[in-house]
Amino acid sequence: MRPVIVAGNWKMHTTPADAGELARTIGARTRVDGVTRVLCPPFVCLAAVRDALADPGVAAPDGSGVAVGAQNVHRERQGAYTGEVAASMLEGLATWVIVGHSERRQQFGETDEVVAAKLTRVIEAGLRPILCVGEQLEAREAGADVAATIVVDQVVNALRPNAGDALWSSGLVIAYEPVWAIGTGRNASGADAAAMADTIRRALRTVAGSVAGLGNGEDLTVLYGGSVSSSNIDEFMAEQAIDGALVGGASLKPDEMAAIVARAGLTARARAAATTA
Ligand code: PEP
Repeated sequence: MRPVIVAGNWKMHTTPADAGELARTIGARTRVDGVTRVLCPPFVCLAAVRDALADPGVAAPDGSGVAVGAQNVHRERQGAYTGEVAASMLEGLATWVIVGHSERRQQFGETDEVVAAKLTRVIEAGLRPILCVGEQLEAREAGADVAATIVVDQVVNALRPNAGDALWSSGLVIAYEPVWAIGTGRNASGADAAAMADTIRRALRTVAGSVAGLGNGEDLTVLYGGSVSSSNIDEFMAEQAIDGALVGGASLKPDEMAAIVARAGLTARARAAATTA
Protein backbone atom coordinates (compact mmCIF):
# COMPACT_ATOMS: atom_id res chain seq x y z
CA MET A 1 0.00 0.00 0.00
CA ARG A 2 1.46 3.35 -1.00
CA PRO A 3 1.46 6.09 1.66
CA VAL A 4 -0.77 9.16 1.45
CA ILE A 5 1.29 12.33 1.78
CA VAL A 6 0.44 16.02 2.04
CA ALA A 7 3.50 18.27 1.86
CA GLY A 8 3.40 22.05 2.19
CA ASN A 9 5.90 24.23 0.36
CA TRP A 10 6.01 27.60 2.09
CA LYS A 11 8.30 29.04 -0.61
CA MET A 12 9.82 32.42 0.44
CA HIS A 13 7.24 33.16 3.14
CA THR A 14 7.37 33.33 6.96
CA THR A 15 10.14 34.41 9.32
CA PRO A 16 11.80 32.62 12.25
CA ALA A 17 9.54 34.71 14.51
CA ASP A 18 6.24 33.51 13.04
CA ALA A 19 6.97 30.18 11.35
CA GLY A 20 6.85 28.12 14.54
CA GLU A 21 3.40 29.30 15.49
CA LEU A 22 2.07 28.70 11.99
CA ALA A 23 3.56 25.20 11.93
CA ARG A 24 2.08 24.37 15.34
CA THR A 25 -1.35 25.62 14.27
CA ILE A 26 -1.27 23.62 11.04
CA GLY A 27 -0.01 20.57 12.90
CA ALA A 28 -2.78 20.77 15.50
CA ARG A 29 -5.44 21.19 12.80
CA THR A 30 -4.30 18.31 10.60
CA ARG A 31 -4.22 15.49 13.14
CA VAL A 32 -5.49 12.84 10.77
CA ASP A 33 -4.50 9.17 10.94
CA GLY A 34 -2.76 7.66 7.95
CA VAL A 35 -1.57 10.86 6.28
CA THR A 36 2.14 11.66 6.22
CA ARG A 37 2.41 15.40 6.81
CA VAL A 38 5.45 17.44 5.78
CA LEU A 39 6.07 21.19 6.06
CA CYS A 40 8.86 22.80 4.03
CA PRO A 41 9.62 26.30 5.32
CA PRO A 42 12.53 28.53 4.21
CA PHE A 43 15.97 27.45 5.49
CA VAL A 44 16.09 30.13 8.17
CA CYS A 45 12.80 28.88 9.66
CA LEU A 46 13.70 25.18 9.79
CA ALA A 47 14.81 25.23 13.44
CA ALA A 48 11.74 27.15 14.60
CA VAL A 49 9.43 24.79 12.73
CA ARG A 50 11.27 21.70 13.98
CA ASP A 51 10.95 22.93 17.57
CA ALA A 52 7.29 23.84 17.19
CA LEU A 53 6.46 20.45 15.68
CA ALA A 54 7.97 18.69 18.71
CA ASP A 55 4.80 19.82 20.53
CA PRO A 56 2.77 16.67 21.35
CA GLY A 57 -0.36 18.61 20.34
CA VAL A 58 0.48 18.13 16.67
CA ALA A 59 0.59 14.32 16.79
CA ALA A 60 -2.24 12.47 15.05
CA PRO A 61 -4.14 9.81 17.04
CA ASP A 62 -1.90 7.15 15.41
CA GLY A 63 1.10 8.95 16.95
CA SER A 64 2.52 10.31 13.72
CA GLY A 65 3.91 13.81 13.79
CA VAL A 66 4.66 16.39 11.13
CA ALA A 67 7.99 16.07 9.33
CA VAL A 68 10.15 19.03 8.34
CA GLY A 69 11.47 19.43 4.81
CA ALA A 70 13.81 21.87 3.09
CA GLN A 71 12.96 23.43 -0.26
CA ASN A 72 16.36 22.99 -1.90
CA VAL A 73 20.00 22.02 -1.43
CA HIS A 74 23.21 22.72 -3.33
CA ARG A 75 24.53 20.17 -5.79
CA GLU A 76 27.98 20.00 -4.17
CA ARG A 77 28.91 18.58 -0.75
CA GLN A 78 30.70 21.72 0.40
CA GLY A 79 32.88 24.49 -0.94
CA ALA A 80 33.06 28.10 -2.04
CA TYR A 81 29.36 28.59 -2.76
CA THR A 82 28.45 31.72 -0.87
CA GLY A 83 24.92 31.74 0.41
CA GLU A 84 24.22 28.11 -0.42
CA VAL A 85 23.23 25.19 1.82
CA ALA A 86 24.56 21.64 1.49
CA ALA A 87 22.38 18.60 2.12
CA SER A 88 24.59 17.43 5.00
CA MET A 89 23.97 20.77 6.79
CA LEU A 90 20.32 19.83 7.22
CA GLU A 91 21.13 17.14 9.75
CA GLY A 92 18.92 17.61 12.78
CA LEU A 93 16.85 20.24 10.99
CA ALA A 94 14.98 18.43 8.22
CA THR A 95 14.30 14.91 7.03
CA TRP A 96 12.78 15.68 3.62
CA VAL A 97 13.94 17.88 0.71
CA ILE A 98 12.17 19.21 -2.37
CA VAL A 99 14.41 18.76 -5.44
CA GLY A 100 13.94 20.31 -8.86
CA HIS A 101 10.96 22.53 -8.10
CA SER A 102 9.94 24.30 -11.29
CA GLU A 103 10.55 27.71 -9.70
CA ARG A 104 14.18 26.64 -9.26
CA ARG A 105 14.38 25.17 -12.75
CA GLN A 106 12.95 28.35 -14.28
CA GLN A 107 14.35 31.13 -12.09
CA PHE A 108 17.71 29.62 -11.16
CA GLY A 109 18.50 27.72 -14.33
CA GLU A 110 18.48 24.27 -12.76
CA THR A 111 18.97 21.78 -15.58
CA ASP A 112 18.13 18.08 -15.38
CA GLU A 113 21.84 17.49 -14.72
CA VAL A 114 21.85 19.86 -11.73
CA VAL A 115 18.64 18.29 -10.42
CA ALA A 116 20.20 14.82 -10.68
CA ALA A 117 23.28 15.98 -8.75
CA LYS A 118 21.09 17.51 -6.04
CA LEU A 119 19.19 14.25 -5.79
CA THR A 120 22.51 12.47 -5.29
CA ARG A 121 23.41 14.77 -2.39
CA VAL A 122 19.99 14.35 -0.79
CA ILE A 123 20.20 10.56 -0.95
CA GLU A 124 23.77 10.57 0.40
CA ALA A 125 22.64 12.68 3.35
CA GLY A 126 19.90 10.17 4.18
CA LEU A 127 17.15 12.68 3.44
CA ARG A 128 13.86 11.85 1.72
CA PRO A 129 13.54 13.49 -1.71
CA ILE A 130 10.43 14.94 -3.31
CA LEU A 131 11.49 15.20 -6.95
CA CYS A 132 9.37 17.71 -8.88
CA VAL A 133 8.67 17.28 -12.57
CA GLY A 134 6.21 18.96 -14.90
CA GLU A 135 5.69 20.41 -18.33
CA GLN A 136 5.31 24.02 -19.46
CA LEU A 137 2.04 25.34 -20.85
CA GLU A 138 3.15 25.11 -24.49
CA ALA A 139 3.88 21.42 -24.05
CA ARG A 140 0.48 20.75 -22.47
CA GLU A 141 -1.19 22.67 -25.27
CA ALA A 142 0.73 20.62 -27.81
CA GLY A 143 -0.98 17.53 -26.42
CA ALA A 144 -0.80 14.93 -23.68
CA ASP A 145 1.88 12.93 -25.53
CA VAL A 146 4.20 15.94 -25.77
CA ALA A 147 3.72 16.69 -22.06
CA ALA A 148 4.35 13.05 -21.19
CA THR A 149 7.58 12.95 -23.22
CA ILE A 150 8.93 15.96 -21.35
CA VAL A 151 8.00 14.64 -17.94
CA VAL A 152 9.43 11.19 -18.68
CA ASP A 153 12.71 12.80 -19.77
CA GLN A 154 12.87 14.76 -16.51
CA VAL A 155 12.23 11.61 -14.48
CA VAL A 156 14.75 9.48 -16.36
CA ASN A 157 17.43 12.20 -16.38
CA ALA A 158 17.13 12.63 -12.62
CA LEU A 159 16.95 8.95 -11.74
CA ARG A 160 19.33 7.24 -14.13
CA PRO A 161 22.51 8.81 -12.70
CA ASN A 162 21.27 7.91 -9.21
CA ALA A 163 20.63 4.29 -10.01
CA GLY A 164 20.77 1.79 -7.21
CA ASP A 165 19.43 0.58 -3.91
CA ALA A 166 20.14 3.86 -2.14
CA LEU A 167 17.71 5.67 -4.42
CA TRP A 168 14.89 3.24 -3.90
CA SER A 169 15.41 2.98 -0.15
CA SER A 170 15.52 6.79 0.14
CA GLY A 171 11.72 6.75 0.06
CA LEU A 172 11.70 8.73 -3.18
CA VAL A 173 8.50 10.64 -3.89
CA ILE A 174 7.79 12.26 -7.24
CA ALA A 175 5.54 15.30 -7.46
CA TYR A 176 3.91 15.90 -10.82
CA GLU A 177 3.62 19.68 -10.95
CA PRO A 178 2.63 21.11 -14.32
CA VAL A 179 4.43 24.45 -14.47
CA TRP A 180 1.36 26.28 -15.78
CA ALA A 181 -0.58 25.23 -12.69
CA ILE A 182 1.87 26.43 -10.05
CA GLY A 183 0.70 29.54 -8.25
CA THR A 184 -1.71 30.36 -11.07
CA GLY A 185 -5.00 29.20 -9.60
CA ARG A 186 -5.31 26.90 -12.61
CA ASN A 187 -5.03 23.19 -11.92
CA ALA A 188 -4.71 20.05 -13.99
CA SER A 189 -7.76 17.83 -14.09
CA GLY A 190 -7.71 14.83 -11.79
CA ALA A 191 -7.82 12.54 -14.83
CA ASP A 192 -4.84 14.25 -16.53
CA ALA A 193 -2.83 14.20 -13.29
CA ALA A 194 -3.61 10.51 -12.79
CA ALA A 195 -2.63 9.70 -16.37
CA MET A 196 0.71 11.46 -15.82
CA ALA A 197 1.24 9.61 -12.53
CA ASP A 198 0.81 6.32 -14.44
CA THR A 199 3.23 7.56 -17.08
CA ILE A 200 5.79 8.39 -14.40
CA ARG A 201 5.48 4.91 -12.90
CA ARG A 202 5.94 3.37 -16.33
CA ALA A 203 9.03 5.57 -16.84
CA LEU A 204 10.44 4.27 -13.59
CA ARG A 205 9.91 0.71 -14.75
CA THR A 206 11.79 1.53 -17.95
CA VAL A 207 14.72 2.89 -15.97
CA ALA A 208 14.55 -0.02 -13.57
CA GLY A 209 15.01 -2.36 -16.52
CA SER A 210 18.56 -1.09 -16.93
CA VAL A 211 19.22 -0.11 -13.37
CA ALA A 212 19.32 -2.49 -10.45
CA GLY A 213 17.63 -1.48 -7.24
CA LEU A 214 14.97 0.89 -8.52
CA GLY A 215 12.16 -1.48 -7.72
CA ASN A 216 8.77 -1.71 -9.29
CA GLY A 217 7.15 1.50 -10.46
CA GLU A 218 3.86 0.47 -8.86
CA ASP A 219 5.38 1.19 -5.45
CA LEU A 220 6.39 4.72 -6.36
CA THR A 221 4.55 7.45 -4.48
CA VAL A 222 3.37 10.18 -6.85
CA LEU A 223 1.85 13.45 -5.65
CA TYR A 224 0.05 16.12 -7.63
CA GLY A 225 0.99 19.78 -7.17
CA GLY A 226 -0.29 22.95 -8.80
CA SER A 227 -2.87 25.25 -7.21
CA VAL A 228 -4.17 22.52 -4.89
CA SER A 229 -6.78 23.86 -2.49
CA SER A 230 -9.67 22.69 -0.35
CA SER A 231 -11.95 23.17 -3.34
CA ASN A 232 -10.11 20.84 -5.74
CA ILE A 233 -8.32 18.30 -3.49
CA ASP A 234 -11.23 15.88 -3.86
CA GLU A 235 -10.63 15.63 -7.59
CA PHE A 236 -7.05 14.44 -7.03
CA MET A 237 -7.57 12.22 -4.01
CA ALA A 238 -10.39 10.41 -5.82
CA GLU A 239 -7.78 9.11 -8.30
CA GLN A 240 -6.14 5.78 -7.40
CA ALA A 241 -2.93 6.86 -9.10
CA ILE A 242 -2.48 10.00 -6.97
CA ASP A 243 -1.01 9.53 -3.50
CA GLY A 244 -1.40 13.05 -2.14
CA ALA A 245 -0.45 16.63 -2.82
CA LEU A 246 2.43 19.06 -2.79
CA VAL A 247 0.68 22.27 -1.76
CA GLY A 248 2.18 25.74 -2.23
CA GLY A 249 0.14 28.86 -1.50
CA ALA A 250 -2.64 27.05 0.35
CA SER A 251 -0.13 25.43 2.73
CA LEU A 252 0.28 28.78 4.50
CA LYS A 253 -3.41 28.76 5.45
CA PRO A 254 -4.39 26.52 8.38
CA ASP A 255 -8.04 26.26 7.25
CA GLU A 256 -6.96 25.10 3.81
CA MET A 257 -4.45 22.60 5.16
CA ALA A 258 -7.02 21.24 7.60
CA ALA A 259 -9.46 20.59 4.74
CA ILE A 260 -6.82 19.17 2.39
CA VAL A 261 -5.40 16.75 4.96
CA ALA A 262 -8.90 15.73 6.08
CA ARG A 263 -9.73 14.77 2.47
CA ALA A 264 -6.42 12.95 2.10
CA GLY A 265 -7.31 11.05 5.27
CA LEU A 266 -10.41 9.61 3.60
CA THR A 267 -8.22 8.11 0.89
CA ALA A 268 -5.76 6.81 3.47
CA ARG A 269 -8.58 5.08 5.37
CA ALA A 270 -10.07 3.63 2.19
CA ARG A 271 -6.69 2.23 1.14
CA ALA A 272 -6.10 0.73 4.58
CA ALA A 273 -9.58 -0.86 4.54
CA ALA A 274 -8.99 -2.28 1.05
CA THR A 275 -5.71 -3.83 2.23
CA THR A 276 -7.24 -5.54 5.26
CA ALA A 277 -10.42 -6.68 3.44
C1 PEP B 1 4.35 24.42 -5.22
O1 PEP B 1 4.93 25.36 -4.73
O2 PEP B 1 4.91 23.31 -5.34
C2 PEP B 1 2.98 24.61 -5.67
C3 PEP B 1 2.35 23.59 -6.22
O3 PEP B 1 2.43 25.85 -5.51
P1 PEP B 1 0.87 26.25 -5.60
O4 PEP B 1 0.11 25.22 -4.79
O5 PEP B 1 0.80 27.61 -4.97
O6 PEP B 1 0.50 26.21 -7.01
